[in-house]
Amino acid sequence: MRILITAGPTREYFDDVRYLSNGSTGRMGYALAQAALDAGHAVELVSGPVNLSPPPGAVLHGVETTAEMRAACEALFPRCDGVIGAAAVCDYTPRSRVSGKIGKTGQPLVLELVETSDILAGLGRQKGSRWSVGFALEPEGGLERALQKLQSKNCDVIALNGPSAIGSESNSIQLLDRSGGIAAKWSGSKIEVARQFIAWIEAHLARR
Ligand code: C5P
Repeated sequence: MRILITAGPTREYFDDVRYLSNGSTGRMGYALAQAALDAGHAVELVSGPVNLSPPPGAVLHGVETTAEMRAACEALFPRCDGVIGAAAVCDYTPRSRVSGKIGKTGQPLVLELVETSDILAGLGRQKGSRWSVGFALEPEGGLERALQKLQSKNCDVIALNGPSAIGSESNSIQLLDRSGGIAAKWSGSKIEVARQFIAWIEAHLARR
């Protein structure tokens, strides 16, 4: 298969030097890329800024903003068999970006934020026979919210994990299917979890 994987954070600029972002390290997405390559698949890795080297063999598409990530994904998805959305995409972006650098005035600075467009939901609308897998980072008991996300993004399955996954070497995942049932559960190092995740995709999504 040729698998599109998004990884890492995005950045949303409100002037030319300042941005909003999050603490995603990209480790889960990069582990999935490594596991997919090791299993013999081709990987298009669309990554926000991270301090990781891409796994040898992956085709890296480095992006910064959500709009750039979306454009890269939309260009690549038509020639892929499926997508794994492991990126921690910013949900909000400043309504406007000031060119240059906003100077200090001694007064509070109010930023107006608008929602970014949902990359995975966009791919989900055009996926046809391809598969899509999302991630939902939710505190304890987020099954209901994760299922809503699976539906709104038209994913085949969604991986529910907790906030402790951010920045960690390990992860604990519950995989939810479209009926709301738990199709699989894995925990361990991110690479161990990634290998089981890719094997599950091969068994359940690739051979539909
Ligand atoms: O809605 P939420 O951000 O919790 O959804 C998480 C899932 O959706 C992840 O798979 C993430 O990569 C994807 N996502 C996206 N574009 C966004 C927001 C999230 O692709 N703007």
